[in-house]
Amino acid sequence: MAGKYQIPRGTFDILPEDSYKWQYLKNTFREVTRMFNFKEIVTPIFEKSELFERSVGVSSDIVQKEMYKFKDKKGRILALRPEGTAPIVRSYVENNLGRDGDLSKLFYIGPMFRYERPQKGRYRQHFQYGIENIGSENPYIDAEVIAVGFNFLKKLGLDNFELQINSIGCPNCTLDYNKALVKYFSSYYDELCSDCKIRIKKNPKRLLDCKVESCKKIALNAPSMLDYLDDECEIHFKKVQENLSKINIPFKINPRIVRGLDYYTKTAFEFIDNNLGAQNTLIGGGRYDGLVKQLGGNDVPGIGFAGGFERLIVSMEKEGLQFGREQSPDVFLVTLGEEAKEFGISFLSKLRNNRISAEISIDKNSLKAQMKAANKSKAPFALILGDNEIKKEEITLKNMETGFQELVKLADIVEKLLQILKIK
Ligand SMILES: [Zn+2]
Ligand SMILES: [Zn+2]
Repeated sequence: MAGKYQIPRGTFDILPEDSYKWQYLKNTFREVTRMFNFKEIVTPIFEKSELFERSVGVSSDIVQKEMYKFKDKKGRILALRPEGTAPIVRSYVENNLGRDGDLSKLFYIGPMFRYERPQKGRYRQHFQYGIENIGSENPYIDAEVIAVGFNFLKKLGLDNFELQINSIGCPNCTLDYNKALVKYFSSYYDELCSDCKIRIKKNPKRLLDCKVESCKKIALNAPSMLDYLDDECEIHFKKVQENLSKINIPFKINPRIVRGLDYYTKTAFEFIDNNLGAQNTLIGGGRYDGLVKQLGGNDVPGIGFAGGFERLIVSMEKEGLQFGREQSPDVFLVTLGEEAKEFGISFLSKLRNNRISAEISIDKNSLKAQMKAANKSKAPFALILGDNEIKKEEITLKNMETGFQELVKLADIVEKLLQILKIK
């Protein structure tokens, strides 16, 4: 049965049998960010499209090709958010979050939108998690932000990733570096792809980020940013490395990491899963010391990262990792006879009011059909109630895994369940 309507291209449903995986990732991310005292921020799914043009950059692929841009009924030009940082910085400035000089430590989880050719692991609506730490240029903060990503991946059980870091300098060191890049790539001008021919004029650093094989080969021998860092950026980068070592986070320096967006400065980093093939970045992030000012706020530095849940799931499944316990009720109530069913309905409510997750098969009457439903629900326990048992004020408690059955006084069953289910 295909149905009359199909899901839009490049999107997917998270079906009930899979949604516990997403729940698990969200819960784990919330747990880890809480250890570092980050608080959740939720911004709208659409913003004025100008926000992304100002921040991500008019020349970027995101704004040029991939943004879902539309006019609303009043002619306002809006965009479905392609990434999470610009909306958060917009909110930070608009709500004056830094007013007391405090650090803003924020995390978010939500869908992002990019109009691109769908392929495995690439969707038009995908789910991102990320953090932003706005208000300090202390290199310790760079290490702490990286530590959140590191601890999150570890907490999920992942072991097969590598942290790569780089410094992409500040506008001051970029001046000389850009000149060196233009000089280097100009000698290969005819071999560059058409996008890179534009990049060399508008944003030479992006030449290092091109995905076209021939451009990648040329970029291999391009000058390294690390040779062009000014004193301030060089010291900052060294301190970041010292802080990472202090908290036992292994890293590798990769001068090829540039990050695709205009607002990044100094530290850039990626967590790479080398078994994933071409799309192997689990988490990407970096410093954006100029962004708050660019969006109309004070000159306040910031740093953050983002990652996608879809790729994380692929990586975890490859490693054979579990996503916690699949959701199931604690008990499944089986009733035999009219009276028992009537009684069962109020008993079910009593269980639920006592924090016991309970289910019943309301339209099935035979023992066989109800036990089948109990099995399918994956509830660890079944409660079996017949007219006879009601008379004796008893109920049968069945352990669905071992098959062990016992009669329990109706008056005692809630207490007993709370105990064996370890519900506090
Ligand atoms: Zn610099
Ligand atoms: Zn290219």
